Amino acid sequence: MIRPILIHPDPRLKKPCEAVGEITPEIRALAADMLETMYDAPGVGLAAPQVGVTKRVVVMDCIKDGPPEPIVMVDPQVVWASEDVTTYEEGCLSIPDQYAEVKRPASVRVAWTDLDGLRQERDFTGLWATCAQHEIDHLDGKLFIDYLGPLKRQMITRKMEKLKRERARG
Ligand SMILES: [Zn+2]
Repeated sequence: MIRPILIHPDPRLKKPCEAVGEITPEIRALAADMLETMYDAPGVGLAAPQVGVTKRVVVMDCIKDGPPEPIVMVDPQVVWASEDVTTYEEGCLSIPDQYAEVKRPASVRVAWTDLDGLRQERDFTGLWATCAQHEIDHLDGKLFIDYLGPLKRQMITRKMEKLKRERARG
C-alpha cells in the first residue's frame, strides 16, 4: 500500500523516532509499504517518519539501472564513518524539487536489524553511503536542509509552505 509522504515543515519530521526492538507483523507491513511508496515516488530512500510513523525504520535502493536491491534497516546505527568526505547534491521526498550540496563522510559502516530479526553490518560508499546517512538522520528528526545556511534553509522552507498551501487548496 502506498502511503502519503509528509511534506516539510511538519512536526512529525522533527521528532526523534523510537527504537523498534522486536520485528512484528506491523513492522514487516510498514517496511513493505515504505518500499512500495519509495519506488512509486520514485526515490532512493525513505524513512518511517516521512510516512508519519516515528519508528526507527529505513528503506533504500540506490540501484538506478538493473535489478532492484531493496534494503530494509530496522534500528540502524552508523558504527563507523570515514574521515574523507564527499559532496552530493541531495534531495528529499519530503522536500520535493529542492536540491542542495551536502558534505558527509564518503564511507560509513552501518549496523541494523533485518526483517528476520538478524543483526546485519555492511559498509556503504558512494550514493549508498550518502543515502544511508540521510535516511538515518530522518530518524533523529534531522533533514538535509539542516546542513545548509539559515538563509537557504528558510528559502526552501517558505517554498514548501507555499506548496502545502497550494496542495491543501487542491
Ligand atoms: Zn529525506
